[in-house]
Amino acid sequence: LAGRLQETFNKLRKKGKVTEEDVNQTMREVRLALLEADVNFKVVKDFIARVKERAVGQEVLKSLTPGQQVIKVVNEELTELMGGKQSKLEMAPKPPTIILMVGLQGAGKTTHAGKLAKYLLKQNKKPLLIAADVYRPAAIKQLQVLGEQLNVPVFSMGNEVSPVDIVQKGLEYAKQEHRDVVLIDTAGRLHIDETLMNELIQIRDVANPTETLLVVDAMTGQDAVNVAKSFNETLGLTGIILTKLDGDTRGGAAISVKAVTGCPIKFVGMGEKLDLLEPFHPDRMASRILGMGDVLTLIEKAQANIDAQKAKELEQKIRKAELTFDDFLAQLEQLKKMGPLDEVLGMLPGMNKAKGLKDLKVDDKQLTRVEAIIKSMTKEEKLHPEILNASRRRRIAKGSGTTIQDVNRLIKQFEDMKKMMKQLTGMTKKGKGRKGKG
Ligand code: GDP
Ligand code: MG
Repeated sequence: LAGRLQETFNKLRKKGKVTEEDVNQTMREVRLALLEADVNFKVVKDFIARVKERAVGQEVLKSLTPGQQVIKVVNEELTELMGGKQSKLEMAPKPPTIILMVGLQGAGKTTHAGKLAKYLLKQNKKPLLIAADVYRPAAIKQLQVLGEQLNVPVFSMGNEVSPVDIVQKGLEYAKQEHRDVVLIDTAGRLHIDETLMNELIQIRDVANPTETLLVVDAMTGQDAVNVAKSFNETLGLTGIILTKLDGDTRGGAAISVKAVTGCPIKFVGMGEKLDLLEPFHPDRMASRILGMGDVLTLIEKAQANIDAQKAKELEQKIRKAELTFDDFLAQLEQLKKMGPLDEVLGMLPGMNKAKGLKDLKVDDKQLTRVEAIIKSMTKEEKLHPEILNASRRRRIAKGSGTTIQDVNRLIKQFEDMKKMMKQLTGMTKKGKGRKGKG
């Protein structure tokens, strides 16, 4: 989605004057891109109508940078479509806060109950997990394993007791043990069916949840939207967790699910690991979809995983587009801690284009090699990579026990990363006050 729109927007951005025909042309492209991304047809139609109305308005066409104004309108409307502001997890005025996790089988309910428990622990809450999926024996075990990993208690009564009774007893237990947030993991089915819904209604009535969160797989595209619609009609959802956004999804579900159900997306799941949960920010998602990168999320990730000072340095370096080979190495190491590198780098603007970087899979072996190469450089070379001529490269390859191709590739990747950072600087500072060095 991003790549296609980016091209259209680049053309538009360069125009000194924008005519109504230009706007129409751009909107045709946006429309196609959204439909291709599997966004609901009606949502697209309304969206385009709203953007057009604003974009051909006088304020835009007569402004000094009409092309950019149009892009701004698209960005704003897209943000609005996904809920406008970030929608936070609701906390009960009187604890415990009760969170009911619902959704189809395999959507990621159990995993995300664990992720939320971890997220809440970080906020000094005392979560309790309740195992109310009694249909798959493995489900209880799965939750218990997560609980052990996190050091969070798991309430279960095996699979002979009805889920409604388990929830009732579990809530009593939570009060007794002064747990302030209760996460209820429920069973799913492959498809929506009445038995499932009736059971969930009963659980909901017993639990009286603060949040009823639908966990839904983003990879299922339009189906995700239909599932959300029908769960919302039956249960009255308070929010949605969109999972598996790390996969090969076209992002369409993120755009239409709020518009169709009226329920905000509260979190997105970015992988199987327990820390790959992110609060959903509509504005950032809009920028990401429009190909401007998701710098803020990247920085937040950095802050959660490395100490604050380092994160600040990283942020400043990114913003100033200053980068030496030492930073590069340090960053690769830090980035590695943040999760799958592809995903982290994908948040940087221009990432789709920076082809060299796409091949930059950093596993431990690769990192060792990169480290060896950088350590074989002189101080001068690290600070001024432009002096790395053929003979220096040969020496470095020899010194690090790698090949000259390895060295060349690394230098190329380094330069790509630098270029990317420059692009980013241009965008965050609107072209002013650049301070990129060589
Ligand atoms: P449940 O049936 O709804 O409880 O789903 P599970 O929590 O058991 O998850 C089903 C599968 O999806 C498991 O293999 C999870 O590891 C995987 N999974 C869950 N969330 C994510 C996610 O955000 N990204 C990816 N890639 N996989 C996920
Ligand atoms: Mg489960």
